[in-house]
Amino acid sequence: MNYTEAIGCIHIHSIYSDGSGTVPEIIAAGQACGLDYLLLSDHMTLAARREGYCGWHGKLFMSVGYEINDQEDQHHYLAFGLDEELPLHYSHLEYLQAVKEKGGLGIAAHPFEKRVQNQSLPGFPAIPWGRLDYPEIEVIEIWNMMSHWLEKTTVRNKYWNIVHPRSFSTEPAAELLAWWDEINQHHKVTGVGSVDVHATKVKVCGLYSKAIFDYKIMFKSIRTHLLLPRRLSEVRDPDEAERMLLTAIRSGNAFVANYRRGDASGFHYWIETDSESIILGETARGNSGWLRVDLPASAQCQVIKDGQVIFSQMVPKHFDLKITPGIYRLEARRQERGWIFTNHLRLKGVSN
Ligand SMILES: [Zn+2]
Ligand SMILES: [Zn+2]
Repeated sequence: MNYTEAIGCIHIHSIYSDGSGTVPEIIAAGQACGLDYLLLSDHMTLAARREGYCGWHGKLFMSVGYEINDQEDQHHYLAFGLDEELPLHYSHLEYLQAVKEKGGLGIAAHPFEKRVQNQSLPGFPAIPWGRLDYPEIEVIEIWNMMSHWLEKTTVRNKYWNIVHPRSFSTEPAAELLAWWDEINQHHKVTGVGSVDVHATKVKVCGLYSKAIFDYKIMFKSIRTHLLLPRRLSEVRDPDEAERMLLTAIRSGNAFVANYRRGDASGFHYWIETDSESIILGETARGNSGWLRVDLPASAQCQVIKDGQVIFSQMVPKHFDLKITPGIYRLEARRQERGWIFTNHLRLKGVSN
């Protein structure tokens, strides 16, 4: 088990679409939070890429993709690794295929989004995917901070939630996680966390007020840890650095952490067999092995095997679990709120 980590935030909007911050302001916010990478994804435009923002900014790497939608503003899909936008008239099936053909990485955004019946904020309809079982979908957002906020916010609690934009956060939707466990028993679909930050400016009592969910606040919420074969900062070539990040996402070498519940640095979750040791997103071969977990702080841990909870316990720092073939995901909670959600580790049985 030999890897390094890059910690960063995915799904960010700037003034190139409906975000309120310039790209340099967003980069500065990411740097102030000590992030290793940011994935910018404005609606329907790669203008920031053309302006040269994809690359290194001091110690922070920014990849610039864009958020595609169809003509009815449905099926939001983040596409990274493309140098130009796809034609505007494409249906979602056409852009799923086109992103894949061009070697890009697509992420299905807020796939299971819902709103509280009759209490939703007007003007913010849910934009779910409906169907997700397309072979081109390799990555989905399992936890989108903005979407989560809108799901939890009603006309009654909106002022509290605006003032305390991270405190409401609970955990990814159970329905989504159940679907994700099911599909992963057939083929790999990676889960990432995203902020979907716009730093929207609102007026309170008719007066001009500052941005809600400002970039820095959101960068202290849901982060995705990517497990990399070499330190990102050593890869100075921007194309290579971007490829390394996108490959880790596609491969599921990743876990999601809500930093509102604590720093997740030092979290490790892996499988060891007699002959190998594998990291998140990988597959080990063998009829038995050990699942090993290191936590940076005590947490209530659940291990989910093939969609079923097989372990649920308060863990101080470390635990090991003897395992048989299957796919294994871990959830860690603190104060009954979601903290860490991993991708799957796989143990594939061998016949003699
Ligand atoms: Zn969207
Ligand atoms: Zn978005």
